Amino acid sequence: TARSPYIGRFAPSPTGPLHIGSLVAAIASYLDAKVHQGQWLVRIEDVDGARNVAGADEHILASLLRCGMQWDGEVTWQTRRYALYEQAMQQLGDLVYPCGCSRREIADSQVNAAAGPNQALIYPGTCRHGLAPGKVGRALRVKVPQSPHCVLSFEDRWFGHTSQDLTAEVGDFIIVRADRYWAYQLAVVVDDGAQGITDIVRGVDLLDSTPRQLYLQQVLNLPQPSYLHVPVVLNEAGDKMSKQTGAIAFDDGSDPQQLLQKAMLPAARFLGLDVQAESIDAFWRAAIPAWAQLLQTLPRGA
Ligand code: GLU
Repeated sequence: TARSPYIGRFAPSPTGPLHIGSLVAAIASYLDAKVHQGQWLVRIEDVDGARNVAGADEHILASLLRCGMQWDGEVTWQTRRYALYEQAMQQLGDLVYPCGCSRREIADSQVNAAAGPNQALIYPGTCRHGLAPGKVGRALRVKVPQSPHCVLSFEDRWFGHTSQDLTAEVGDFIIVRADRYWAYQLAVVVDDGAQGITDIVRGVDLLDSTPRQLYLQQVLNLPQPSYLHVPVVLNEAGDKMSKQTGAIAFDDGSDPQQLLQKAMLPAARFLGLDVQAESIDAFWRAAIPAWAQLLQTLPRGA
């Protein structure tokens, strides 16, 4: 195809060591880059100062290398890129407004009355036309068009056609958090744009963030990358395995065989790759063609 040269990325948040769930995303993004003879960048998404764990970034990078995943170019850290986010916010101009609503107030508003306990909250637009008297602006939100509704669709390479009505299902969303940290949605879009990322491969837990990111790409005049969301590993309780829910790190730095048997092969199997290997090198030799073959079976739908 006439697509520009492939640039992919793995973008872990340094909230703890790599766990099996994030390894699945790392392997999938790495394999997709290799199959397309592309570059594979690594970006440490450390904008969430409340959740960063000291040293987790270096631990993650060391784990990637021990698994045989060498990145292209220099690793980037989002905390060194604030100027870019600032610039993007300037560019958003009048679309940005301060919001003084608490989570509680948003949860109690009419639009969320029907929402279940784990459902994402819709912002009802309370501060859209100015802060109510007595309210203090805490976060910054970006306006989402109201009429007509802002409906964003894309073809996910794994899950197929995906669409979300941002107006009805999300509302104006946060780009600077109440604790003053840059929001993930803004930082990720700015970085993907600045780094020329053409292809995003990540966990399906981020599928419903994608329409917000498409919207920001549009208003910031950034090209839209293509997306492939892979299934995510669930723990016994059926929740996404994450560092927050206590997922166990797989890499204690000791034994490559252990790494292969306990983490890499299970991760490949989880992705549906038929890979047998006795060494890490052999793993990649088998996994790259297996991924190419798997791509032939996509999209699969939800
Ligand atoms: N930093 C995000 C995470 O670790 C991933 C962001 C992305 O791939 O867009 O969940």
